[in-house]
Amino acid sequence: MKDLWRDEDAGADDVAQLVYLSNLIGADVDLVQPGGGNTSVKLAEDDVFGERVEALVVKGSGTDLRTIAAAGFTHLSADRLATLRSSESMSDEEMMAIMRACMLFPDRDPVPSVETPLHSIIPHRFVAHTHDVATLSLSDTPSAREHVERVYGTGVAFLEYLRPGFPLAKGMAERYADGLPEDATGLVMEKHGLTTWGDTVKDCYASLISIISRAEEYLAGREKRSFGGAAPALDGAGRREAAAGLAPIIRGELKRSVAWRPVLAFDDSPEVLAAVSSEGFAELAARGVMTPEHIMRAGRRPLVLPTNVPPTDVASAFAGFRADYERYLAANGQDEPIPDWLKVIAAPGVGAFFAGKDRRSALVAATCYRATLRAIAGAEAVEAFQSLSDADACEMEYWPLERRKIAAGLKVAKPLDGKIALVIGGASGIGRATAIRFAAEGAHVTLADLDLAGARSAADEINAASPERAHAVMADAGDPAAMENAVREAVLRFGGLDVLFYSPGVAPRLQPVAEMADEEVRAQLSVHYEGAVAATRAASRVMLAQGPSTPAGAGLRTSFGGRLIYNASKAAFAPGEGAAAYGAAKAALVHYARNAANELSRHGITANYINADAVDTPLFRSLVKERAESRGETEEATLARYAERSIFRTATVPPEAVADAALWLASDASAYTSGCVITVGGGAEAMPR
Ligand code: ZN
Repeated sequence: MKDLWRDEDAGADDVAQLVYLSNLIGADVDLVQPGGGNTSVKLAEDDVFGERVEALVVKGSGTDLRTIAAAGFTHLSADRLATLRSSESMSDEEMMAIMRACMLFPDRDPVPSVETPLHSIIPHRFVAHTHDVATLSLSDTPSAREHVERVYGTGVAFLEYLRPGFPLAKGMAERYADGLPEDATGLVMEKHGLTTWGDTVKDCYASLISIISRAEEYLAGREKRSFGGAAPALDGAGRREAAAGLAPIIRGELKRSVAWRPVLAFDDSPEVLAAVSSEGFAELAARGVMTPEHIMRAGRRPLVLPTNVPPTDVASAFAGFRADYERYLAANGQDEPIPDWLKVIAAPGVGAFFAGKDRRSALVAATCYRATLRAIAGAEAVEAFQSLSDADACEMEYWPLERRKIAAGLKVAKPLDGKIALVIGGASGIGRATAIRFAAEGAHVTLADLDLAGARSAADEINAASPERAHAVMADAGDPAAMENAVREAVLRFGGLDVLFYSPGVAPRLQPVAEMADEEVRAQLSVHYEGAVAATRAASRVMLAQGPSTPAGAGLRTSFGGRLIYNASKAAFAPGEGAAAYGAAKAALVHYARNAANELSRHGITANYINADAVDTPLFRSLVKERAESRGETEEATLARYAERSIFRTATVPPEAVADAALWLASDASAYTSGCVITVGGGAEAMPR
């Protein structure tokens, strides 16, 4: 392990040094994975009453070592925490209640980490706890203690597996009632991780480096025999094609068994592909994950699909895995699967799908499982990979402290939570405003546009507010292959599709009927009609692959279904001078949407369109310019005419007004509305009849 310590960056006071240590550790996914691990320092400070007290400053719950700052730590009274040591037994809830009561600054600080008692028992000032791949390669084995003793002698203490929380704290307190072994600089906790300490922050880090480096040396001297001969993997394009076919089916199966809409992150990185495609993978993967915490973040074990599984066989693979899982639950005294029981689905030859309530948590599962793959390889080189027993794994899955957090996280709070949307024409105007609104209401969004820079800037704006929510792809709505590709990109990025918002625009070139150019007709038809047909074809295929998801009689409001939403414009309903090609193309789009509604609504897939008139977009502005020129008047005069005929007496309506209508059509609330139009803006002549 590389020593990254730099004295000049290490911080002046204890807390600054603790932040520095935490960030150093957090930056390395071989040391801790997102949310995992924790650090602390013991110091003297004034409490809120101005009294000098001994304090334990420890990582707060829900923080991440990679990004933690001083405010992410909790200050606790060390004296009061000591009462935990004398307690015979208590629930984790009682333990957390005591720890909350030990907080010195309850108004300011986060709730302390559940592993706080461990930090309070160790007498040294700085303490760091990791879930590192190196020492877990020693302790995720049947003979963990022997490996630790062989590598470290008495220099590192060892503790058999105990569940994190009160059992671990109590076990530690009992084992080391007379103090830790004098020459020990760390403690390996079987199948859980490493804790190191030091009286200075630098000593603590140096112990960490030294312990991990020795484990790495021990591993380096052994032949890797983790994963057997590899099954042939498809090439990159073949994998993406296969993944795009599998993802919606996997997402549908997941939703049917967990009743929430997962987002999937596809991973065919060389590391993951080689592991999941290897012959021995299914058997190794079935042994579990590297630590109890990895059960929370990546699930108890992955579902490994058959090699080159045809999409039609995915359902039976899920059913078999589910039956196994139910047997394990029954054997361990549980009956209902936890809602997020499965987070890793491996497809040998293709890659792996990681599931989460959003792409961010899916990526956390990915990081945690990739670390598990490295620990499996290490443990197999040392002896054999062994994870927690079924009973311990089940206890962890149903651990009330974590369950409550996860249940709260899965609660649908916004109308589009868990939904995946594709916005065609997302770079500007109505498409951009709608994509931003969809994301703000919980959706993951793919923005497709010919103007890639514009689509990227909208995606960046979304991701700045909520990371990993949006991405941009280049797509020409006039090219059917590009529409199919945009759908595929959305599926590969987020795992499926729930909403298609079709809003690309090409401004009409105003031409009288007698002079209408063929290329104008073709341009209007290709962007406003043919592109919609191609996008709908690909999108509906994905939506159908995800469903059916509703238990009989449960109604469409909870169905996977799908939402097809088209931006039609007033021109579809009312003739406009010189805009016959534009209006006819939009009218074709409207009638196509009605046909889509007729065929697809029985599957819970609705198709609706928005009659948007005089929306303030670049396209509308160019139309105004052209109208003004053809009439020989100023643009202001043309706009005044618009205001006069508007029932709202405004020249334009903002694109966000269309986004509001699209939001309702995209939500579950519109489940029984299909083949309909919503008018936004406009004059009396814009009202469809
Ligand atoms: Zn831990």
